[in-house]
Amino acid sequence: MHTSALVLFSGGQDSTTCLALALSRYQRVETIAFDYRQRHSVELDARLKVLEQIRQQFPQWAAKLGEDHLLDLAVLGAVSETSLTRQTAFKMESSGLPNTFVPGRNLLFLTLAAAVAYRRDLQVIVTGVCETDFSGYPDCRDDTMKAMQLALSLGMDKRYLIDTPLMWIDKAATWDMARVLGGQALVDLIVEHTHTCYLGDRIHRHDWGYGCGECPACVLRANGYEKFLRGESTTPLVVAGQLQPDYGP
Ligand code: ZN
Repeated sequence: MHTSALVLFSGGQDSTTCLALALSRYQRVETIAFDYRQRHSVELDARLKVLEQIRQQFPQWAAKLGEDHLLDLAVLGAVSETSLTRQTAFKMESSGLPNTFVPGRNLLFLTLAAAVAYRRDLQVIVTGVCETDFSGYPDCRDDTMKAMQLALSLGMDKRYLIDTPLMWIDKAATWDMARVLGGQALVDLIVEHTHTCYLGDRIHRHDWGYGCGECPACVLRANGYEKFLRGESTTPLVVAGQLQPDYGP
């Protein structure tokens, strides 16, 4: 039985929902993020605010929420030429991937997360990657996660589980998952305090939260929220019914 987890927590909608899920599922939960000189530090500020609000508003979760780790990963900004780390416009590359793709980013994140999990004796690594609704980043795919789980478990001689609760659901269902886990209070917290916008816009407030309203991340978040309000999303049974899924040994 898995009882402890490390959540890759960026301060966005997806990773906040993953954190709530981990706090419902596991007894001891820690968080980790990486500073790779993102164009905006808005995300890094948002994550501290979200952690503070979760501690305040959800005392049953606060008791399980442990240390937060922030790793300096400036080297990633130095080796990658992408619109997330440089002042360039968003566009699609000839590879079919958007230029927001940072090659190797998730692979590096998971490797470092596993190293921290090793030191902190945490069994599960939780990440909000999703194959359903996004740009097809190859390092977010289910096969990549399974391969990483195997490689990290073998390479560190420790049996890791990489838990990806959002892998097969869309953004509307992610909003719904938050509602099931933490009620309207968690939905409100996510709207107000999480950050998704690529441009780091914290000025324009919409009913789904802050953002420019036009970048791909904002459009995805806004459309998902509308669909969620229309009641067209379904939350997987694993969240609604059985908070402690059977993952085997
Ligand atoms: Zn935006």
